[in-house]
Amino acid sequence: MIDLVKSLISKLPRPVDEWARLIYDFVPPSVRYGKAYVAALTLLRESETWGPSEFAEYQRRLLSKLIHHCAENVPYYRELFREHGIRPDDVKTADDLERIPFLTKEIVRKRKEDLLAVNIPARRRLTVRTSGSTGTPLEFAIDRATRAMERALAVRHLKWLGWKKGDVVAEIRAATFSDSGRTYRYFPASRQVVFDFTALDDEKLQRVVETLHAFRPKYIRALPWSVFLLARWMERNNKAAPPVRYVITASENLRPAMKEHVERVFKVPVIDHYGQNEQVAYAFQCAYGIGYHVQREMSIVELIRTSDGNSEIVGTCLHNYAMPFLRYRTGDFALSRDELCPCGRTGPTLASINGREVDVIVTPEGRLIAPGPLDFAFYRLPEIKEAQIIQEDVSGILVKVAAWDRLSEQTRAALARDLAALLKSDRLEVRIEEVEEISRTPGGKKLFLVSHLKLDHYSMGL
Ligand SMILES: [Zn+2]
Repeated sequence: MIDLVKSLISKLPRPVDEWARLIYDFVPPSVRYGKAYVAALTLLRESETWGPSEFAEYQRRLLSKLIHHCAENVPYYRELFREHGIRPDDVKTADDLERIPFLTKEIVRKRKEDLLAVNIPARRRLTVRTSGSTGTPLEFAIDRATRAMERALAVRHLKWLGWKKGDVVAEIRAATFSDSGRTYRYFPASRQVVFDFTALDDEKLQRVVETLHAFRPKYIRALPWSVFLLARWMERNNKAAPPVRYVITASENLRPAMKEHVERVFKVPVIDHYGQNEQVAYAFQCAYGIGYHVQREMSIVELIRTSDGNSEIVGTCLHNYAMPFLRYRTGDFALSRDELCPCGRTGPTLASINGREVDVIVTPEGRLIAPGPLDFAFYRLPEIKEAQIIQEDVSGILVKVAAWDRLSEQTRAALARDLAALLKSDRLEVRIEEVEEISRTPGGKKLFLVSHLKLDHYSMGL
């Protein structure tokens, strides 16, 4: 059941190979992730009762060990500490972290090799490739121990929401199955129903709703936009909602209007889950669905004021020894929340989290396409620095591409080919334009998709 969190926390870089997955699914997580997973589950059970001093002591102990590791084994940090006169013993507590300069995506991109710990064997590393929501590709490594902790945190989050072994969980996302006519696949070992929520039309949405009624999942895990669209379609077509306990969203901004709409149609709370591939900051809403409880077992989370008055989420993962990220700037923004959560859990909570923007592309055929999977057309091409898709009207999209140097004809052709394969539309016009740089929003974010369409008018008459 551990894998049920996989897609929402780390986007899969390619279509799901569901056959391999069906078999892999039967391997228990304690075998898959090893001792680290068992240890993480034990720790998370114990830490439920910890107070502030226990958390401070836990973080102090892990931080101190990590900083010494960085100073001894990570070339980038050896150099950085020397340049800034930082001795490992100077950084003991979360407050001491201030002495260390931020780590940015740009630095990770340029100094990737120097960020790898020389004493950690390659088999302990997992390579992660992402373009996030910005269209700027990024590749880095995480420690298997970090992945184990992430899985354990996700299990605990479900337990907060009353999950018990055997409960069916539906996942609604842009999965692509090898058999393209397929709407869903059921994974019996993890009791998951995974839906391919791409290329939607009335017939497919009807099948999704019928399947949800047939499997009666207790939880629906989804990207906000997908469950929002589903809710709108159900309401429009007078379809009864399946009797789920919670809808859990992750990976994108959960806009208030979306939350309200989904809650109205499904008649259950929407619970949001924040994390990122770099695994430096996790914060989950509990069953009350108010604040986001910062997961202090994973990392030290700081909120850093930016010049425009926002607070950026900056995180230090305490478990990634393979490629330590100290004070990593996530590019996501949040406000801290002062009131105590009614659930009684102490510790820091965040109010709304912003920065994970997303929208959908609409084709002339009336299909809705999430931009997420399109990322992959960009990051496979090393000449491309960043990209942005703009949709002015339903007839086509403009793809702005900034190259590290210059965009070659070969890359341009490869991009056009890959996008056509992913968009699967004969009528959508795709124009590629090379630009110097991708413009930012007033808040400093680069959006991967800018849509000027009013979704209400184009959503298959939703
Ligand atoms: Zn709470």
